[in-house]
Amino acid sequence: MTATKLDLIQTEKWGLFSDMRKPVIIAGPCSAESEQQIFETAKALKNAGVEVLRAGIWKPRTRPNCFEGVGSEGLSWMQRVQRELGMKISTEVANVKHVYEALKAGMDMLWIGARTTANPFAMQEIADALKGTDIPVLVKNPVNPDVELWIGALERLNMAGLKKMGVIHRGFSTYGKTKYRNVPQWQLPIEIKRRFPEMLMICDPSHISGKREYIQEISQQAMDLGFDGLIVESHICPEIALSDAAQQVTPMALSEILDKLVIRDIDSENVEYKENIDELRARIDVLDNDLLELLASRMRVSDEIGKYKKQNNITILQPGRWDTILGKVFEKGNQKGLDNEFLEKIFKAIHQASIDRQTKIMNE
Ligand code: PEP
Ligand code: MN
Repeated sequence: MTATKLDLIQTEKWGLFSDMRKPVIIAGPCSAESEQQIFETAKALKNAGVEVLRAGIWKPRTRPNCFEGVGSEGLSWMQRVQRELGMKISTEVANVKHVYEALKAGMDMLWIGARTTANPFAMQEIADALKGTDIPVLVKNPVNPDVELWIGALERLNMAGLKKMGVIHRGFSTYGKTKYRNVPQWQLPIEIKRRFPEMLMICDPSHISGKREYIQEISQQAMDLGFDGLIVESHICPEIALSDAAQQVTPMALSEILDKLVIRDIDSENVEYKENIDELRARIDVLDNDLLELLASRMRVSDEIGKYKKQNNITILQPGRWDTILGKVFEKGNQKGLDNEFLEKIFKAIHQASIDRQTKIMNE
């Protein structure tokens, strides 16, 4: 792993967010759909205190024949927002043509989408096209949980002379059903923050959640982890949105979400202590969540085993198997510095819970 240093400009100097209060908010529809939709949404967001509008002009959709964005035509709708409402405007760029047109339209900020961050060829072309400008660029995490690929995209932009950079955490693709559309894997943005403490960290609760009802909890988690801000999809009428309808919120709902957010203070007397303790606790929370996910998956497999044993008329308890498991756990656990007493307690509890669930299934 190569050690990296990025040459970044402090976020306060970007001039995008007037008072750099926490959290900074970027909001707007997934896609620009019509001049009226953009203007009405932006007006309502401005009333809610949002300073930077987001809207996708070119949409990277997973499958063809979905709505792929209005294209260049939508740029003038955003320019109207900038001109008449005095808001800053931002959009996603995925190739050289997008960069050229977005810059010509006077975008105040750009973001790189998750599929583009994952592609070094595209990233290099975009970086080359941005050479000589100093526009702020936010880089979404790649779709796959690869922190080096994410950093690589930042390096390419930085090497092209861009210094106003931040990241957007939007979660990671997985196969199979999960609660969230994209699993958060908070440990990755945490690693970015550890490596580049001065990096502006934005969370995208909309694309993590996939459903508007989870936006509050993800946003709060981001605040708890000390993120600088949020980018939230907001549409004047989410039900009829042409893309990502289930995860968009009205400007009014966004305002309520923001009002409910608990923003953690940094104790002014014990700054260093507080920072250290916060980081330690955030790491614990992430790991505990991972443990819960793992336990839940393990129990789901136990249920399957229970059903299968029932079908084949086999006993639940298999002493030989349990012995083997415990033996392996001791061996591997000891190597990792965990003592037998602790391991036995934990794994006995897991084994017992698994037996209980299988018993229930067998007697259903
Ligand atoms: C978006 O912001 O609308 C978008 C397409 O996001 P992502 O690149 O995170 O999928
Ligand atoms: Mn979207």
